[in-house]
Amino acid sequence: MPGTSPNPSQLPTTGRAWHLVRRPQGWPVPEDFALREVPLTAPAEGRILVRNRYFSVDPYMRGRMNDVKSYVPPYQLDVPMDGGAVGEVVASGADGFAPGDLVVHGRGWREYADLDARGATKVDDSLAPLPAHLGVLGMPGLTAYAGLMEIASFQPGDVVFVSGAAGAVGSVAGQLARLKGASRVIGSAGSDAKVEMLREEYGFHAAFNYKDGPVGDQLKQAAPEGIDVYFDNVGGEHLEAAISRLKQNGRVTLCGMISQYNATAPVPGPRNLALAVGKRLRLQGMIVSDHQALMPRFVEEASGWVRSGELRHHETFVEGVENGVEAFLGMLRGENTGKMIVSLDA
Ligand code: NDP
Repeated sequence: MPGTSPNPSQLPTTGRAWHLVRRPQGWPVPEDFALREVPLTAPAEGRILVRNRYFSVDPYMRGRMNDVKSYVPPYQLDVPMDGGAVGEVVASGADGFAPGDLVVHGRGWREYADLDARGATKVDDSLAPLPAHLGVLGMPGLTAYAGLMEIASFQPGDVVFVSGAAGAVGSVAGQLARLKGASRVIGSAGSDAKVEMLREEYGFHAAFNYKDGPVGDQLKQAAPEGIDVYFDNVGGEHLEAAISRLKQNGRVTLCGMISQYNATAPVPGPRNLALAVGKRLRLQGMIVSDHQALMPRFVEEASGWVRSGELRHHETFVEGVENGVEAFLGMLRGENTGKMIVSLDA
C-alpha cells in the first residue's frame, strides 16, 4: 500500500479556495474573486493532500486572469486558482511521501491541496525558513539567477541596473550581481523606504525612487558612464531610459513589464529602440520554467549566501486565506518589500 494516511475521519472534509469569477478589466477588484468552500477527500493512489502553510501571489497571475493564450494557460472561471505554495503533507497515497513532509507545489490560493505527487517537491527547511522557498530560494530567486547569468550573460565588472529592485526577483538579481563582481549595481523602486533598503541593506551602489522624477534623468545621475546590463521587471519608461544608458553591446533581460499589466489600451513601445541597432544591444525575453534545470545549482549557491547573510531577503506576509486577494492587489500596488506571501500558518 503506497503512502500513509491517518484515519480518514481525522482529515478535513472541506477547505476554502479562491476562484476567479469574472475577468478583470484593467485593475482587478475584489468582486472579480470569490472564496468558496470545496470538498476534500482522502488522496487517491499517487496523490497527496497538503495543508498549505504559505501561498504566493505573483505578478504573472494578472496575465492569467485574461482569457488570452500565453506561456501559462489562463485561469478558468469558477475553478480554484493555482500558484506556488508550500505546505505539509497530511495524507498520502503516493510512494515517497508521508504525513509531515514539507513540499513546494503549484496548488496555491487554497487551504488544502489535493494533488498528483509528481507535482510536489520536498523542501529542506534547514536551508532556510519555509516561506523563503517561495521567494529567495524559489521561483523568483531562480528567475533572478537565470535572468542575470544566462540571459544577460553577466560578466564581472559589469554595471547592472535592476528595476523593481526591492521586490522578490529584483532584490535577488541586484544582490547576485554584486556578489558576482559587478562594478556597480543600481536599483529603482517605488518608495524612499525601499530605496534606503537597497542602499543600506542590499548593498546596491546607487538607488532611486522612480516616482521622484523622470527615470532617464535619475538613471543618468546614478550611472554617468552608462550600464552594461539592464534587468527589466517593469517595462515602459524604465526600458526606454535603460536603452538610452546602455553601452555598446549592452544586454537587457526582459523579465517582466509590471507597469503595463493592468493597461486597458495598447502601450507605446520604447521610442528610442532604434538605438539598439547602432549600440548592438541584445534584448532577450525569458520564462523561468525554461531554466528549471538550473535550480539545484542555484539553490546550492544561494543557500550558502542566505545562511552567511550575504544574500538578504524579505517577505511581506498577509495573514489568512481570506486576505489572499488583498495580498495580490497590494503586491500590484507595491505594498510588498521582497516576496509577497499569504500565510495560513496562524
Ligand atoms: P515584486 O515582488 O517585484 O512585486 C511587484 C512590484 O512591482 C511591486 O512591489 C511594485 O514595487 C512594482 N510595481 C508595481 N507597479 C509598478 C509600476 N507601474 N512601475 C514600476 N514598478 C511597479 O514581484 P516579482 O519579483 O515576483 O516580479 C517582478 C517582475 O518579474 C514582474 O514583472 C514579473 O512579472 C516578473 N517575473 C517574470 C518571470 C519570468 O519567468 N519571466 C518570473 C517571475 C517574475 P514598487 O514599490 O517598487 O513600485
